[in-house]
Amino acid sequence: MKFVYRFGGEKADASAAMKNKLGGKGANLAEMTNLGIPVPPGFTMSTDLCMDYLSSGKYPEGLETQVLKGLKHIEKLMGKKFGDSSNPLLVSVRSGARVSMPGMMDTILNLGLNDETVQGLAELTGNPRFAYDSYRRFVQTYGDVVLEVRPRSKHEHDPFEILIDKVKEKKGVKLDTDLDADDWKNLVAKFKQMIKQRAGVDFPEKPEDQLWGAISAVFSSWNNERAIAYRKLNRIPHDWGTAVNIQAMVFGNMGTDSGTGVAFTRDPATGEHKFYGEYLENAQGEDVVAGVRTPKPISQLEQEMPKIYKKLFSIQKKLERHYKDMQDLEFTIQQGKLWLLQTRTGKRTGFAAIRIAVDMVEEKVISRKEALMRIDPEQLNQLLQPVFDQTEKKKAIKAKRVLTKGLPAGPGAATGKIVFNAEDAETWAKKGEKVILTRIETSPEDIKGMAAAVGILTQRGGMTSHAALVARQMGKVCVAGCDALNIDYAKHVMKVDGNVIKEGDYISIDGSTGEVILGKVPTRPSEVIQVLLEASLKPEQSETYQRFHKLMAWSEAETKLEVRTNADKPSQAKIARVFGAKGVGLCRTEHMFFEGKRIDAVREMILADDEAGRRKALKKLLPMQRDDFVGLFREMDGLPVIIRTLDPPLHEFLPHDTRTQKELAEKMKVTAAKIKEKVEALHEFNPMLGHRGCRLGITYPEITEMQARAIFEAAVQVTKEGKRVIPEVMIPLVGNVAELINQREVVEKTAKDVLTEHGVDLHYMIGTMIEVPRAALTADQIAQHADFFSYGTNDLTQTTFGFSRDDSGKFIADYMEKGIFTDDPFQTIDQRGVGALVRLGVELGRMVNPKIEIGICGEHGGEPRSVEFCHNAGLNYVSCSPYRVPIARLAAAQAALKEKAIKTAKKPAPKKKKK
Ligand code: PEP
Ligand code: MG
Repeated sequence: MKFVYRFGGEKADASAAMKNKLGGKGANLAEMTNLGIPVPPGFTMSTDLCMDYLSSGKYPEGLETQVLKGLKHIEKLMGKKFGDSSNPLLVSVRSGARVSMPGMMDTILNLGLNDETVQGLAELTGNPRFAYDSYRRFVQTYGDVVLEVRPRSKHEHDPFEILIDKVKEKKGVKLDTDLDADDWKNLVAKFKQMIKQRAGVDFPEKPEDQLWGAISAVFSSWNNERAIAYRKLNRIPHDWGTAVNIQAMVFGNMGTDSGTGVAFTRDPATGEHKFYGEYLENAQGEDVVAGVRTPKPISQLEQEMPKIYKKLFSIQKKLERHYKDMQDLEFTIQQGKLWLLQTRTGKRTGFAAIRIAVDMVEEKVISRKEALMRIDPEQLNQLLQPVFDQTEKKKAIKAKRVLTKGLPAGPGAATGKIVFNAEDAETWAKKGEKVILTRIETSPEDIKGMAAAVGILTQRGGMTSHAALVARQMGKVCVAGCDALNIDYAKHVMKVDGNVIKEGDYISIDGSTGEVILGKVPTRPSEVIQVLLEASLKPEQSETYQRFHKLMAWSEAETKLEVRTNADKPSQAKIARVFGAKGVGLCRTEHMFFEGKRIDAVREMILADDEAGRRKALKKLLPMQRDDFVGLFREMDGLPVIIRTLDPPLHEFLPHDTRTQKELAEKMKVTAAKIKEKVEALHEFNPMLGHRGCRLGITYPEITEMQARAIFEAAVQVTKEGKRVIPEVMIPLVGNVAELINQREVVEKTAKDVLTEHGVDLHYMIGTMIEVPRAALTADQIAQHADFFSYGTNDLTQTTFGFSRDDSGKFIADYMEKGIFTDDPFQTIDQRGVGALVRLGVELGRMVNPKIEIGICGEHGGEPRSVEFCHNAGLNYVSCSPYRVPIARLAAAQAALKEKAIKTAKKPAPKKKKK
C-alpha cells in the first residue's frame, strides 16, 4: 500500500485533488511542484496512516522502506545526505490536515542536526553562529514536542527559555541576536542535560531516530488538547487525521540575500486586488510570526531584490489563476533563490470575501454560482452592522480593556454608557445619550429600553433568549449570557473580575465576537445601511453597497425558498423589505402591548373580574392595535403579513415589584393588595408550559376577537387606500386540532363580520404554528383546518428536548464541552430530532392539503444550516429578523445550488450513441 507521496523536481506523486489523503499542505505542495513552481523537495505521509497509527500505536509493514525511499529522493534532488557530517540534509516535519488548523498541531524544523552534522553545516555555510542557532532551535522544539519537556504548571516559564535567559543575564545582553556561536553551542549541551534529567532519555543523535520520533509526535499532535478544541469549535471531524510533510529545509537566515515572508494574492482584510504581504530579510519563518522584528511590506522587496520580487509576483498570479481563489503563500529566499513553502486558500474578512467573489466574477475567473458558494452567509453581517474601528479595537485589547466574553447574539459594534434598567435607558436616550442596556436577563417589559439602547448586554440567557432574539429583530448589537458579570441592580454597579463598572461608565460591546470592552471604542456605520435605509449615500457612491446588491440579485436568481421577516413594527418591516423580504412571517403582537399607553389598557383587561370588564379594556386597545396593523400592512403593500394572536402568559404584563404595583394600584384606582393578589394568582411554576398561546384565546376568546377585529379593520382601511393587503392570522402553540378549530371559528366569524360591515372582499388565511410535538404528529388532522403552518422552532426545540429555552444556557455549554452536543439546538436546528418532526409535519400536512403553505419563524429561520435544512424539507419560506434577511437569502440560494449539484452528480451519464 502506498503511504508516502513524493514531490520535487517539477514532479509529484499526487495533486491538489488528493487533499483528503494528503492534507491541504501536502496536496498543495504536490500541486505547486506539478506547476513548475520551486518547492523544496519532500514527501507526504497520508492522513489514513495517522488514524491507523493513533488507533494501533504502530506503523504498517513496508512503511519504513517507503520513508527511506522518500529520503533518498530528497537527498538526490538537494545533492545532500541525511546525517552526513560534511554535507548534511536537514528536513522539516510538519503537520497538515485536510483543512487548515493554524498553529494547532506541531512542526519540527532543522531535523537531522547533531553534534557532528552541525559542524558540517557551520563549515558549509561559513557561519557557525547560524549553524548552532539552528541546532539549538531544533533541540528546543524536539525537546518540547517529542520529549514533552514543557512548563510543569501554568505559572512556570518555558524551561528552555529559562536557560537562555540565564546565559543572557550572565552576559549582560538582552536579545537572542546578542548570543554567539559558542553561547548556542553551550546552550545545546545544557538543553540536552535538562532533557535527560526531565524526560529520562538521551536526546537522539541519530537522524533516523530523530525522524521517527518527530513523525510519531506530529501524528499524535492531532489529538492534543488545542487541536481537539479547535475541531470542536469548527466542526471538523475527529477521524480525519493529519498528514505529515517531510521536506528539505531551506533557510531564510543565511545573510542579506536571504529572507522569508507571507503573502496574499489579494488584501485579506479589504479584498482589494493587490499583491499584499510582508517579509523579513535574513530571518526564519518563526521570526515573522513571533513579531519580534517588524516585517517590511512586500512592496519593499521590489526595491531590495527586484528579480526575486518579479518571480514571486508571477508565481502568485499563476497560483491564483490556477486555484481560482485568493491564495495565502509562504516563501523563503535562500541566498538569492526563491522557494515556495506553502499555498492555501487565504482566510479573509467578510468584506474581503464578498469583494473577492464579486470581483472574480467580473474578472471572469469564476461564475456567479461559484461566487455565491464562496461566501459564508454569516459574513454578510459585516456589511450590515456598524463596526469597530479595527486599529482602535486592537489598542483596547492591547491595553487589556477586554472585560469578558459572552455569546455573540446580535452582531455589530456598540459603545455607550451603561444603564441597568429599561426605564433609565429610555430617559437617558431621550437626553441624547447612547446607552448600553445591561441586565441580568431581559423580559418583554424591557422592550422600550432595548429599543432606546444602542446595545444590549446580559448576564444570563442563550442565543434564543429574549434579549438575543429581540435584539436581532431590532438589529441591535447584543452580547448575551456573560456569566462573568455580577450585576447589582440596587447599587447600579456591575463587577467583572475585580473591575467595578458604575452606571454611566462607558463600555463597548462587539456583538460579532461577544467581547465586552471597558471604555469607548469608535465605530463606523455600514455603507449598505447608509444607502438603503438612511439614503445618506447614493448607490453609485458605495462600492460595498453595489457588491451587496449584486450578490443579492444573483442569490435571487437561484433561490426556491422565500425569505420573510419577523417584524412587529412598520420600521422593522421596512428594513426587511429593503433587504429583500417577501412578506412578514411573524408579527408577535405582545410586543405591541408595551407601546405607549396601551400597557395600561392591557393591565386593566388582566385585572378585570369578568368578561364585561375585559371587553371594556379591550375596546380601548382595539384602535391602538388596529393602528399597529395599518402601519405594517402599508409597509408590506402587496406582500403577505402573518399576525400571531397573543402568546405569552398574562403575568408578563403585570409589575412584580412592590413599588410599581403600588403605582399601578393608584392608576387603576384599586388597592395594592388586589394587584398583588392578581399577580400571585397568575403565578405559574412553569409559565412556558402554562397558560399561554392558544390556551389564552380559548379561555378569553374576547382577546382573539379583539385582535382579529383589529387585523381585519386595518386590512379594510389599507385596502381602501388602494394598497394590496394579504393578512394571514396565526394561532400559536396548537397541539390538538380542536384548539385550532376553536380559535379559527372566532377569527373567521370576526373576519366575516368586519368584511361585511365594510363591504370589502379580501383574501385572507388562517393558520397555525407548529411548536409542540403533538402538532407535528397530528399535522394531517391540523392541516384540514389550517391554511398554513409555520414552525415555531424555538418552542418546538424546547418542547422536543424538554429543555427550557430560557434556562438551558446554563448547561448547554457543558453539553458542548463534553461533546454531547456539537451544536446548540436553539441556534441551529436539531435535524435528527426536531428536524424529523418538521419533516413529518410537512409530509402529513401535504398529504391532506397538498397546497398548504409551510414556513418557519423560529430563530433558526435566519441561520444558514437551518435554512438549508428547510429548503431540503420542502418548506415554502423561512422567516427571520430583518437584519438576517440577506443572510437567509444567500443561504437559501446556496441550498438550491447544492441540491442542483447533487442532482447533476446523480444523473447517469448520457449513453453513447451507437454508430
Ligand atoms: C417559536 O417558538 O419558534 C416562535 C417563533 O415563537 P416565540 O419565539 O415567540 O415563542
Ligand atoms: Mg413560540
